[in-house]
Amino acid sequence: MKGLTGKTALITGASSGIGQAIAIRLAQEGCNIAINYRRKVEEGEYTEKMALQSAREAGRSSVQSILIQGDVSKEDDIIRIVNSVIEKFGSLDILINNAGIQAECPSHEIPTDKFDQVIAVNLRGSYLCARETIKHLLAQQRSGVIINVSSIHEIIPRPMYLSYAISKGGMGSLTKTLALEYANRGIRVNAIAPGATITPINESWTTDLEKQTIVESHIPMRRAGTSDEMAAGVAFLASDEAAYITGQTLFIDGGLTLYADFREAWSA
Ligand code: NAD
Repeated sequence: MKGLTGKTALITGASSGIGQAIAIRLAQEGCNIAINYRRKVEEGEYTEKMALQSAREAGRSSVQSILIQGDVSKEDDIIRIVNSVIEKFGSLDILINNAGIQAECPSHEIPTDKFDQVIAVNLRGSYLCARETIKHLLAQQRSGVIINVSSIHEIIPRPMYLSYAISKGGMGSLTKTLALEYANRGIRVNAIAPGATITPINESWTTDLEKQTIVESHIPMRRAGTSDEMAAGVAFLASDEAAYITGQTLFIDGGLTLYADFREAWSA
């Protein structure tokens, strides 16, 4: 895709699932990639190996990478992560706020620390990563792109997952507010909103065929999405093909946000 070769992209939570697929896809497109992982270095190393291999196969052997440990719920870690990218590559052009967690609990019983943790990773972490990236872009007078990995729960309520729904609803506002504030300084801010996607966060149903069939029966396209399909949306929004797009959330959900209950008339 246009305009990605030679750019530097930081992907948070890139050691699994959608983040891993994004790292691989952006490397394939010729971006240098900074792979943030939280705990297991071997998972980050696997992403790195796959990304560099894909880049080579796509004829982009000059692609470079860096692995950076860090917890996006911690401000000091975020500052260190962003500084490490700039130190290694001299710039940071594309930030992908992908790291995310969820917690299931009846809303009247959520322990305060569990509530705070989800917001701290999904929303506050995304904001702080964006803040540090924007500071750098403005200081270097560079254009740049921020993409938030939101969710269909940016707009659909999610009982039993209140903190998650709030975090993704907030991500919609984060996307639009930053987009408007920095539109005239060459910084585009967009989001993708995945529907049900086969990744480790959904282990509860992706490892059980019966449960997966139930999940997929609710999706108009009758199947879950793949991480690669999410990564394709990110690559498009990060590229110059999307040069005039800012403040938007791209729903990649097999039709989940189309009010499926209206598929057929309720009464004659
Ligand atoms: P995943 O569990 O494989 O990925 C989440 C990643 O975030 C992991 O690599 C994890 O290590 C990382 N992470 C968690 N806490 C972190 C922290 N404090 N600091 C740094 N990294 C941290 O699941 P996924 O489905 O690939 O999720 C990626 C994103 O996609 C999340 O933001 C999630 O909310 C969003 N999403 C997923 C789905 C889905 O159906 N899979 C749907 C909508 C949105």
